[in-house]
Amino acid sequence: MSKKIHNNYLNTSLVLTASYCSSPSVKGQNISCSHFSRMSFSSSSLSPSFGIMFDIDGVIVRGKTVLPSAPEAFKLLVDRQTRDWRIPTIFVTNAGNTLRIEKAEQLSNWLNVKVTEEQVVMAHSPLKMFTEYHNKHVLVMGQGPVGQIAHSLGFTKVTTMDQLRHTFPSLDSCDHKRRRAAPCSFNTYFPMIEAVVMFGEPVRWETSLQLLIDVLLTDGHPSTAPTSIPNPHIPILACNMDLQWMAEAIMPRFGHGAFLLCVENLYKKVTGQDLVYTALVGKPSEITYRHGEHVLQGVARQLGKSVSTIYCVGDNVCTDIFGANLYHRYLQVRRQNKAVSSNSRCIDRLVGQGVGLSGAEECHSVLVNTGVFSKDDFGCPPTLEHSPRDFLPVESSFKEPFLSTENVLEAVTSILRRENYD
Ligand SMILES: [Mg+2]
Repeated sequence: MSKKIHNNYLNTSLVLTASYCSSPSVKGQNISCSHFSRMSFSSSSLSPSFGIMFDIDGVIVRGKTVLPSAPEAFKLLVDRQTRDWRIPTIFVTNAGNTLRIEKAEQLSNWLNVKVTEEQVVMAHSPLKMFTEYHNKHVLVMGQGPVGQIAHSLGFTKVTTMDQLRHTFPSLDSCDHKRRRAAPCSFNTYFPMIEAVVMFGEPVRWETSLQLLIDVLLTDGHPSTAPTSIPNPHIPILACNMDLQWMAEAIMPRFGHGAFLLCVENLYKKVTGQDLVYTALVGKPSEITYRHGEHVLQGVARQLGKSVSTIYCVGDNVCTDIFGANLYHRYLQVRRQNKAVSSNSRCIDRLVGQGVGLSGAEECHSVLVNTGVFSKDDFGCPPTLEHSPRDFLPVESSFKEPFLSTENVLEAVTSILRRENYD
């Protein structure tokens, strides 16, 4: 593993004092049975000791089109008569432009099974644990209801990029038609921005690039021109590092990782310094998988079991396969010597040790051929060069899936066969 990964998590450990239990908003994720009471589970005595995390884009849907084998695949995971879940199942997506409950409703409609919000982990879900920032004034970026999403995660003082642009209209000058010569008279009273939360790629990139750099250069108060470059800059929490993702188009589309790349390079050009993330969450970060396991174990508890083997089904080698393999190693290191890894200690401290987590023993990556990396389209093995900056260089073995399948139906049948289930 690269030192940068350790450094990233060490940085995180320095700034965080959060406990998984301490946040009221996090309690909704706690593993008490009452929080999962709305879920329907089969009480079969054949309760498995494995569970599955599914990626969504490129595995279940392409854009808003459901992939043909997906409904059939999920039929295998529920009871034929009652339609109750019989395999612990959650959905872990790097999407961040919607609320969990809305994504659960979409999944229920797409798959003809009842999916609850407790089964959905979004890229931003781990930010519930970052309580140190919940009472700071944060600038939130992305598209969709980002203000609402921030409040749902526990942030209390939120300014969106749109609100910032309206407060400081002269700063947004790339589009000549949107230029405003006169600054607002009240912008000097604007409270200092203390942190930035990046949920996903915005629209009108030029506006977000300009105003974000402005905020960083002015130490959070873009009404005053900087006299020196702040070092360190204000904290940045970023979700979803996918350089590309798969929608309806025939080729992968730029994702939030592409936007982050632009920000990093512009900041370096302007200041000569590296932009440093306080935290990067979403796949492939271990903290997202740790959070995902926490949620999955809660689902499994409804079956009277804990999950010892996790399968992660995804279409993106740089995100899903790399992330699952990274988490598998985290589990191995943790089992071998709990005190050896500062990285592990950091995540454990953040999530809160012993909070309903019995501890998986292994995490297996399962690649499908219906999304970002299709062997039919590219005819060559995928590369990890597209991985997020703070996760490079990557061990090449981490790009190898434990199972390689054509689609999500084959992925599910392969897992059930391997587990001798039905
Ligand atoms: Mg995907």
